[in-house]
Amino acid sequence: MKMIGIMAVGNELTSGMIQDTNSSFIARELGAEGWGVSGAVLVGDDEAGIARMLRYLMANSDAVIVTGGLGPTVDDITTEAVAKALGRDIFTDAAALAQLKAAFEAFNLAWTENNAKQAMFPAGADIIENTVGTAPGFIVIHDGIPVAVIPGVPREAERMLTDGVITRFRRELGTTGARTVRKTVKTFGLTESALADKLKGLEEAFPQAQIGYYPRFPENHIVITVKGSDAAALDETLSAAARWITERLGKYVFGYDDDTLEGVVAALLTERKLTLAVAESLTGGLITDRLTNVPGSSRFFERGVVVYSNRSKEELLSVPHEVLETKGAVSSEAARLMAEGVRTIAKTDIGVATTGIAGPAGGTAEKPVGLVYVAIADGRTTWCRQFQFRWERRRIKEITAQVAIEFVRRLLVGVDIGDGE
Ligand code: ATP
Ligand code: MG
Repeated sequence: MKMIGIMAVGNELTSGMIQDTNSSFIARELGAEGWGVSGAVLVGDDEAGIARMLRYLMANSDAVIVTGGLGPTVDDITTEAVAKALGRDIFTDAAALAQLKAAFEAFNLAWTENNAKQAMFPAGADIIENTVGTAPGFIVIHDGIPVAVIPGVPREAERMLTDGVITRFRRELGTTGARTVRKTVKTFGLTESALADKLKGLEEAFPQAQIGYYPRFPENHIVITVKGSDAAALDETLSAAARWITERLGKYVFGYDDDTLEGVVAALLTERKLTLAVAESLTGGLITDRLTNVPGSSRFFERGVVVYSNRSKEELLSVPHEVLETKGAVSSEAARLMAEGVRTIAKTDIGVATTGIAGPAGGTAEKPVGLVYVAIADGRTTWCRQFQFRWERRRIKEITAQVAIEFVRRLLVGVDIGDGE
């Protein structure tokens, strides 16, 4: 197997200010090509460090990918460091310089001379165009080892990797024909151990697949990985395994791969021409944020109100004063009236509401921190469920928003709302 070294450059990475996501992305893409990773390192913006690590990776890999430090600022020194490590001069590429200046003009940006740095490359480099940013990348083949250097900005790195580097590496390293493909099954409402229990026998049923469980709070994802060279057979295994999992888990599966819960709900609402209004106390707008992140949300999303105080619940949702006085804002009665109230006032098909105690203060013996009510009303029925969550404030808000959106999904696909956990 061809092995590739990865080096991510930047003081923001070695100081822990920014998490290195480029290396994971690169590793996944290399895996999909049937290549392995000989090692992945983080290096600061330091010429000697970059050079030393580059020589090390080159001595232990069939190719190397470097990401970061191609920008115009003085701390961006990757090009010089790579040139030095390889004993090559630096040259300015006239065409790249002209393109760079043209890009600045097109975006109405003032040109400063330090930007010329982004048109400089080690002698013998092949330039990789940057179609989504300014700094081009490059590939040099040194002693038979291809070294690709791409920007640090993730969007640019991703584009350049798939558009420029992988195709060039295929030519230099040859393709094995072996592929690694994955499918993710996304679930909500079951713990990891409950999932594993329900999926007993999966490994035996699909011995050619590798199964991984990945908690992505508040969701749990199951990733099926298969390797081989017959694309159709790989696809067939993935689909069959995903079907097997979906049959066992039923309503707990809400989507696959790039699906999001809000995206799935948005598609269902749009398809059925239904409208939704949200009344958020505890979640403070999180539900509204997630739903309106979906393009085209105006087709189904009528309004979201943050009703944090008792007064706002009375004024904006017509929740009766006596209910808030006698039962409290954190009660199933209040949650139901909030969902019904927002639905009636917004004249939508569905109304959803959240109320609860996010903590860390404000809990009592009968209403402890983490006590949450989520309600949903469709004009005929109002469902309300009580939860006792154990996490801290932010997670309580996040899982409550997730439950509320999941309630909408369950209502639309016709599965029991009053079950789960
Ligand atoms: P530019 O031309 O945009 O300056 P660059 O190659 O100089 O590109 P960097 O300055 O190294 O890129 O990084 C720009 C930003 O991209 C960083 O501040 C950081 O937020 C992000 N970034 C850099 N490297 C990584 C990485 N390995 N993983 C995730 N994000 C990264
Ligand atoms: Mg940098």
